[in-house]
Amino acid sequence: MHSEHIGSFYSAQLGDRRIHPELVGGFHSQIGIVGGGFAGLTAGIELLKRGRSVVLLEAERIGWGASGRNGGFVSAGFAEGMDAIEAAVGLEDAKKLYKLSQEGVSYVRRTLEGEGAATLIEGHGWLKVQRHKGADALKRRQEKMATHYGVDLDFWETDQLKSKLKTDRYFHGLHNPEPFHMDPLAYAEILLEKFLRLGGIVHEETRVLSLKRNGASWRINTAHGCVSCEHVVLATSAYGVLNQTYYPVDRTMQPVATYVIASEVLGERLRGAVDFGGCVADTRRAGDYYRTVEGGERLLWGGRITTRRSEPKRLAELLKAQILQIYPQLGDFRVDFAWSGLMGYSRTKMPLIGELKPGLWAVTAFGGHGLSTTAMGGEVVAKGIAEGDDTWRLFNAFGPVWAGGSIGRLAVQAEYIRLQALDRFEEARSGRAG
Ligand SMILES: Cc1cc2nc3c(=O)[nH]c(=O)nc-3n(C[C@H](O)[C@H](O)[C@H](O)COP(=O)(O)OP(=O)(O)OC[C@H]3O[C@@H](n4cnc5c(N)ncnc54)[C@H](O)[C@@H]3O)c2cc1C
Repeated sequence: MHSEHIGSFYSAQLGDRRIHPELVGGFHSQIGIVGGGFAGLTAGIELLKRGRSVVLLEAERIGWGASGRNGGFVSAGFAEGMDAIEAAVGLEDAKKLYKLSQEGVSYVRRTLEGEGAATLIEGHGWLKVQRHKGADALKRRQEKMATHYGVDLDFWETDQLKSKLKTDRYFHGLHNPEPFHMDPLAYAEILLEKFLRLGGIVHEETRVLSLKRNGASWRINTAHGCVSCEHVVLATSAYGVLNQTYYPVDRTMQPVATYVIASEVLGERLRGAVDFGGCVADTRRAGDYYRTVEGGERLLWGGRITTRRSEPKRLAELLKAQILQIYPQLGDFRVDFAWSGLMGYSRTKMPLIGELKPGLWAVTAFGGHGLSTTAMGGEVVAKGIAEGDDTWRLFNAFGPVWAGGSIGRLAVQAEYIRLQALDRFEEARSGRAG
């Protein structure tokens, strides 16, 4: 039986394609990439463009991990906020890092356009909405993004916000016109096609079991084969931890689950509630993120992060109840798709990018902000390998650091519960508990 994508709104749109068969036997390639999400695919494309031979090994199917099942929001920045990044590396390096993430956004847009797939972009703009009163924090953020990073965000008063999002749960918002959203699984397929066209070799259903240093080269071992190569690129994220791929990298990450649902076709009912075609996310530490899809016909809504890997029963009902707290006018609706995915978080919430040992590279741990940053990370690592470029050293300050194993997992869960309580307190204080 072939490995299948999980059931999701995205996989339901995907046509059939042949599976790229499992690796059997021993091969040599200049580069071996482990993990067929955006990070591995982009690194592979950029290495092929620079004349390297590349084999990519994926345990399931290309795009099967977080890359093919996320919210689809493409925006600059990182899973960690810019305040914390500035505190860690200083303003000048924080500016360089932010600029790299902006280049990641441009990379995705350029790739879609270059592959004749610009129509995959389903909407533009990002509204960050606040569920409690008080404009100071948003105004400070607006000011900082303008002065430090040259990003102009529009501050939206309650009335302007209400004209687009028909709810009395939001008080203020910041609008950024730059981000956009897309079908991420379709994007993974586009990257795959480009990778193959450039001469890359892909083996799906090929789980990497171990990596061994072998003189000046590396040997990647799978159940029925092996690849010897000069450079290995590990792009396995949270699923790499589950697969026990390579302990020194796995130990730097906590797998954190998040959940998404897509409604039935709601049409006018939805447009009467959400009259905004871009991305929406609230400012809470563990908030909701959503967008309309299929030309505004369905609502795609994500939220509820947890380090528990089993899917909570009644997930669809839980998220639906949250939606109805915000938009009660939607009334009862059917949830057509509900799914979950794992994000890989390092302790610093920053990606692990760079050369860990001679010839062993990581491009991983993008957390919940991976659509632009995997593109950036893939390119940075490819330039590091092929051109000796040392941009990747900007990430030295963030890793690799042990993420705490099962105790770390409990700590992340406890922190999430604490943050949820803080969010509720702030809302209650502004007279909007819920
Ligand atoms: C539900 C959800 C919503 C999200 N929403 C957003 C969003 O809207 N915007 C945003 O920017 N980010 C979002 N993210 C985060 C984003 O999806 C990830 O950061 C990004 O996709 C990570 O890409 P990756 O290539 O590093 O990892 P993945 O896409 O997880 O790919 C890793 C791949 O490695 C493979 N693998 C693992 N171990 C092995 C092994 N031993 N051998 C071979 N292959 C192996 C896995 O099978 C997997 O396919 C979301 C994530 C989730 C889960």
